[in-house]
Amino acid sequence: MQAPSLGGVSVPRGDGSTVIRLRHGASLNDFADKIDANPASLVTVLFHLGEMATATQSLDEDTFGTLAAELGYVIEMVSAEEEDRELLGAFDIDLEAELAEEGDDQLQPRPPVVTVMGHVDHGKTKLLDAIRSTDVVAGEAGGITQHIGAYQVKAEHEGVERPITFIDTPGHEAFTAMRARGAQVTDIAILVVAADDGVMPQTIEALNHAQAAGVPIVVAVNKVDKEAANPAKIRQQLTEYNLVAEEYGGDTMFVDVSAKQRIGIDQLLEAVLLTADAALDLRANPDKDARGVAVEANLDRGRGAVATVLVQSGTLHVGDAIVAGTAHGRVRAMFDEHGATLTEATPARPVQVLGLTSVPRAGDTFLVAPDDRTARQIAEKREAAERAAQLAKRRKRISLEDFTQALQQGKVETLNLVLKGDVSGAVEALEDALLKIDVGDEVDLRVIHRGVGAITQNDVNLATVDNAIIIGFNVKFAERVEELAEREGVDVRFYSVIYQAIDDVEAALKGMLKPEYEEVQLGTAEVREVFRSSRFGNIAGSLVRSGIIRRNAKARVLRKGTVIGDNLSIDSLKRFKDDATEVREGYECGIGLGSFNDIEVDDVIETYEMREKPRA
Ligand code: GDP
Repeated sequence: MQAPSLGGVSVPRGDGSTVIRLRHGASLNDFADKIDANPASLVTVLFHLGEMATATQSLDEDTFGTLAAELGYVIEMVSAEEEDRELLGAFDIDLEAELAEEGDDQLQPRPPVVTVMGHVDHGKTKLLDAIRSTDVVAGEAGGITQHIGAYQVKAEHEGVERPITFIDTPGHEAFTAMRARGAQVTDIAILVVAADDGVMPQTIEALNHAQAAGVPIVVAVNKVDKEAANPAKIRQQLTEYNLVAEEYGGDTMFVDVSAKQRIGIDQLLEAVLLTADAALDLRANPDKDARGVAVEANLDRGRGAVATVLVQSGTLHVGDAIVAGTAHGRVRAMFDEHGATLTEATPARPVQVLGLTSVPRAGDTFLVAPDDRTARQIAEKREAAERAAQLAKRRKRISLEDFTQALQQGKVETLNLVLKGDVSGAVEALEDALLKIDVGDEVDLRVIHRGVGAITQNDVNLATVDNAIIIGFNVKFAERVEELAEREGVDVRFYSVIYQAIDDVEAALKGMLKPEYEEVQLGTAEVREVFRSSRFGNIAGSLVRSGIIRRNAKARVLRKGTVIGDNLSIDSLKRFKDDATEVREGYECGIGLGSFNDIEVDDVIETYEMREKPRA
């Protein structure tokens, strides 16, 4: 159905409940595609709603919402997981179906994966150290010498040695960050509570996170070697949070330990195995391509991208083509936590992988693809989707509303920057060069903070408050700051060549400029006869002289070369008795200009539309 809308353009309308599903980072082009409209009309409608955007620009959910409401549609954003599922589906990979199809024949027991959480200073790090050194095999292999982000130890339970996998990043931040990406790695949480201190804010936070994720908890009551230790009080305190010790009739195992004196560690590991056996069905199919999660990753000068991945199902082999988030490659070599080379890794095995072309993020899922080409294509598609989503987010931070307001108030729009570099000379040179960029008077560039060293939480916070973009020159994120930047939608860019930074900033400045609209003439018609109708007002019986006359287009009326009516729209358009959408040069038609009735024979009706002018 075509109906009039804002801006005098015609757009197919929904009935107010027609749902349109869009990806994060979609543009007006995508929206236009779904409703079979002309993207330029959507630009115009949006413009009349007070938002300026190009047809290809990524827009945020709010903007789409406003536009959709106007046109009678309801917007539903496709979640990142759904999007990725669709993306993999295009390559015939359906991870869910794969898991659902696995029965008892394929499934084999796998070790539990454990994360250690708890309040700061309650001994999480010390406990992980203690567990690492209890490993019965570690002695022979020379101990766990490498920090690779996760390790596996063997523990004895009822005379049988069984492996347990530990995520070597203490605290619930990593746990939550991974969950935020849709990766559930942890099977069991060890909640460390210092017996001389008791339940503290982060203890509660940690247990909330674990409970929200449906992860069973084993409580390690730590520092029992201390004089002030009161393990019974911890048990009593935690009953308030639904963690009731077995000895009090509950089903949570509490183990008294001293991470420092290495007391109770074996019992703790046994409690983990007991809890796993009682509460969980830990099985996976080892006989297929590996799927799992990246736990940690970094760029090594000599070895390139180094990622520790945890295999969750299937078996990973040297030579496999893999994708981890937006990184891809071929497994060149694998190492365990002892630095020993492996040729394969089975479920719940953490392993350090060499051979990725870039560094994945902690929490990115990985999978083995049928071949290199597929791996690369999946990675590229993911990257494109991510970039689009990022663009939409960024637009939200530097919003057009603020922009329009600033313009109305006569202020100029400012691009705020935070500059960080490895040496002060570089930061100064960068700042000098950036401030020399000439983009006219409409936009302004301001360096709100500069400094030497990694990009810190403080930098990101500043950027959040002032809508700034962070530029890192030969520096990286400080620990955990990347997550924060991502969460806040702060744009952080890294460079090692100054002119690239300058080029990008220049482009950003141009992108921020208000789009300019120009009038494009569509056609003219000459009035031959005027029909007076009490119902529709005056109708101009006209002959189209040039171009086309389109219903809902903007119009003006000229009499002897002078404009006598402007900002009108072609309200009705008829060929004989029938409604027409457009009428071409050389044809006759009846034109109604709404409430504008001052039409005379020989007047000229000119129609036009506003189009965005590309910037030089
Ligand atoms: P985290 O912040 O939870 O990782 O805590 P740490 O493992 O860094 O430990 C904090 C402090 O408590 C350190 O000074 C440890 O030496 C100390 N600590 C940890 N476990 C024990 C323990 O079992 N007994 C005693 N006395 N001190 C401990």
